Amino acid sequence: MSQFGHIETGSRHDLRVGRSPDAPQADDLHDEDGAFGYVHSYETGSNYDGPGPRVLLFMSGCLLRCSYCHNPDTWHLKDGTYVSAQHVIDRLGGFVPALRSLNGGLTISGGEPMVQLGFTRRILAAAKQMGLHTAIETSGFLGDHADDRYLSCLDLVLLDIKSGDPETYRKATGRELAPTLRFAERLAAIGKPVWVRFTLVPGLTDDPANVEKIAQFLAPMKNVEWVEVQPFHQLGAFKWKAMKLEYKHANTPTPTPDLVNRVLEQFRAAGCRAR
Ligand code: SF4
Repeated sequence: MSQFGHIETGSRHDLRVGRSPDAPQADDLHDEDGAFGYVHSYETGSNYDGPGPRVLLFMSGCLLRCSYCHNPDTWHLKDGTYVSAQHVIDRLGGFVPALRSLNGGLTISGGEPMVQLGFTRRILAAAKQMGLHTAIETSGFLGDHADDRYLSCLDLVLLDIKSGDPETYRKATGRELAPTLRFAERLAAIGKPVWVRFTLVPGLTDDPANVEKIAQFLAPMKNVEWVEVQPFHQLGAFKWKAMKLEYKHANTPTPTPDLVNRVLEQFRAAGCRAR
């Protein structure tokens, strides 16, 4: 049994490993009940991950292996802290008056929130009951596993579409693109508000044809409120080194302003609201 812990405030950029050595593999977890789960950390005061100020909860567990991932210490459940959903909800409760007065809310990120569907659903449902706006940031890879009840707990989905070209997606993440596109189409069909996030990695995802595929896919979707272009950065590089992982982007530059503008304009030309 994992040691029972309490979640710590901090930053997504803090390295956290080895908190729950006997945790199962992320793809082996049975989380229907969701009373307990594995959490990396939480931040308060984010103004970026949804409308208004947010409490941001970082889950452990992810099935993708993005070559530029800023937080590889969220990949495995064993690196997270094992906590009860009630503990997280109690923590969140302390921020409710401030969040409500400023029209903020809760965003669950990761890692991948849908690895722990039962656990994150409990927290999202409790947040909604407390009158908070709710969001998850997800790759959508496990979208087929989220039932309608899960989606009903969400006011917004921050959907990371890491590439429009299936081959590039596979190269960047080690997984298939199709489940993400299926999830995007399902969200569009029910009119769920979505902000799409696209990480711009020079030499990997910046090919105009790759960007164009995402832009053309999203342009007809009225529920997509924003496409956000997120420039690659090196803030997570130290984690790869500390975890003795092979990091392919040591020499990858951050995108120039010209490149960022080119990609933004490409989305806008297709009819997307991009920033
Ligand atoms: S989906 Fe997110 S957490 Fe998972 S590997 Fe990719 S960047 Fe990292």
